[in-house]
Amino acid sequence: MKFADLHLHTYFSDGTFSPEELVGHGHRLGFAALALTDHDSVEGCPRMIAACEAAGIDFIPGAELTAEHNDTEIHLLGYYVDTQNDRFLSDIGRFQSVRQDRIREMVARLNGLNVPLPVESVFALANCKSPGRPHVARALVKAGLVRSLDEAFERFLKKNRPAWVPKAKMSALEAIELIHQAGGLAVMAHPGLNRTDDVIPVLVEAGLDGIECFHTKHSTVMSERYLEMADKYHLLITGGSDCHGFSKGKPLIGTVKLPYEHVEKLKAKVEQRKFSTTDEHS
Ligand code: AMP
Ligand code: ZN
Ligand code: FE
Ligand code: FE
Repeated sequence: MKFADLHLHTYFSDGTFSPEELVGHGHRLGFAALALTDHDSVEGCPRMIAACEAAGIDFIPGAELTAEHNDTEIHLLGYYVDTQNDRFLSDIGRFQSVRQDRIREMVARLNGLNVPLPVESVFALANCKSPGRPHVARALVKAGLVRSLDEAFERFLKKNRPAWVPKAKMSALEAIELIHQAGGLAVMAHPGLNRTDDVIPVLVEAGLDGIECFHTKHSTVMSERYLEMADKYHLLITGGSDCHGFSKGKPLIGTVKLPYEHVEKLKAKVEQRKFSTTDEHS
């Protein structure tokens, strides 16, 4: 059997692995296909392509967009997006600056709470365009200001804790359109993590292509529930570990193994869409 992991982060967002390290683990675990889905970023894709090629692994370029619908946070995975697409890059670029401003704001709040964390230490540690709360948490641990990542989130960074700052997000419907115009497939990430089931029909109406049925944090019952939804709404099935390297404890790559047939179905849909759009113009 061939397997895939279609939800992975590197140090180009809040993971700790380089693209090469990630592919090294994927290769050791025997994966036939890997997708890179960094938050609001495709910066790691060129290096993932090279590393996957060298390892004989099928690579799927992607990104995980943080979006919302009626105040509910929705993560959308864009697969097979053209990583050179102008509008895709400029739109995610705006959200990268939102993330950077938010880091400054969170650090200002920490400083206001007499936690002397220099903002440069967070940017130096993050060293990417798409920093997030896990980088602040890691910088706090590194500076000896908290003992653990959990403590950083519990005391300061969790929603409604004193250094938490809400993040401006794109609308989920816009995100689907953004992914589509870049030639990609839009997939709803980890639907079991938040109470977001009511939103699924709305996203389907907007052209959602797939749903992440298998995820480290999905129970068997949850996966079955979303497999049924995939069937009901004619959605593609995806799955992945959501591995962040060591940034949330131990690396999760290897804990979710998506049968390769689902990758073939994704590929077929992208090809079919390419064909039908060229057809329209001829
Ligand atoms: P952000 O995109 O900046 O809001 O950061 C979200 C990231 O922080 C996600 O990858 C979460 O999984 C992670 N996160 C949220 N809460 C915690 C927590 N209590 N411990 C560790 N990581 C967390
Ligand atoms: Zn993350
Ligand atoms: Fe997510
Ligand atoms: Fe993720």
